[in-house]
Amino acid sequence: MNEPVLERLPDGVAVVGGDLRIEYLNAAAEALSGWPRAEAIGRPYHEVLALRDAAGFPLHERGELVPRLRTVRVSPERELLLRRRDGEERWVAVRAAFDRDETRHVRAVLVTIRDIGRRRRLDHARSDLIATVSHEIRSPLTSVKGFTSTLLRKWERFNDEQKRHMLTMINHDADRVTRLLTDLLDVSRLEAGRLELKRQEVDIAQIAAHVADRLGHASDGRPIEARFPESFPKITADPAKVEQVIVNLVENAIKYAEGSIVVSGEASGDEVLVHVADGGPGIDPRHLPHIFTKFYRHGQGERGSGTGLGLYITKGIVEAHRGRIEVARGDEGGTTFTIVLPRGE
Ligand code: ADP
Repeated sequence: MNEPVLERLPDGVAVVGGDLRIEYLNAAAEALSGWPRAEAIGRPYHEVLALRDAAGFPLHERGELVPRLRTVRVSPERELLLRRRDGEERWVAVRAAFDRDETRHVRAVLVTIRDIGRRRRLDHARSDLIATVSHEIRSPLTSVKGFTSTLLRKWERFNDEQKRHMLTMINHDADRVTRLLTDLLDVSRLEAGRLELKRQEVDIAQIAAHVADRLGHASDGRPIEARFPESFPKITADPAKVEQVIVNLVENAIKYAEGSIVVSGEASGDEVLVHVADGGPGIDPRHLPHIFTKFYRHGQGERGSGTGLGLYITKGIVEAHRGRIEVARGDEGGTTFTIVLPRGE
């Protein structure tokens, strides 16, 4: 065995003898298990590599390090919990190869142990996401299903106004599912780093004026104003994405805030700043650190028909442009979101 090479391997390697005692540990296995090899060698392997499965069964009690089938040469990878010498537990991926004699008795077991804490955390985050998404999709669908079947069963018993009300709810909830799925597609593109930016020269002042005009019609008469200096520079960016960012911020101001909404621009060196300011009530300072988090919502109340993905996506788009987004509470209680974008070449 070429031990100097094994010593430099980032994964843990242990050699267990036919008597199931430790014969060798490389440096990574010492670090993972917390056992110095001087103390580990000669001990029953399960004292040093105290492995159990997710259900809590210790590997050695089932004799599973060495499979019963004598033809097995390599075991498939298993994700197991390793209890370190200091009592701390770590998720590890374990594989074993068996060195057998002529009668197929195990002479030695070569075990590799890799720390998979990060992978397990990612898997966890992924299943959390799936649970949240399923829940978010199920509630509007339940309402669509409920109203539809009620209408189908008792069509004659409702008057036109009641029917119109139910159809409006169905329409609204179907839109909600569509919006959620569109947002999720954006999220998955962002997280996979596959958000395509079609960069070109962008006139943010013009985009902001257009957004203010378009959303002004949907803001119940609340004024939306775009204020950009004459000399505001053009930047290199994806115009559709920049528009999406401004629309998200203005729509939030329409939904969650009061008073007039101002979109303004400011040039500063090789960056431009775009502020979206509203007239409050503002975001509780306790919530401020979390509002860019996926699915984070609070105080949705009456107006809330969001998914909690808007600001997460907004931040992702801005960062894909190598920019950043900040939020501040105004002196009079309003909220100002500021995006900072590089002017680009
Ligand atoms: P959504 O609008 O889908 O709920 P967002 O990610 O866009 O999700 O926003 C997250 C939360 O931040 C909202 O639920 C809301 O509580 C809060 N928020 C966002 N913008 C404002 C604003 N301008 N004023 C007050 N609260 C806001």
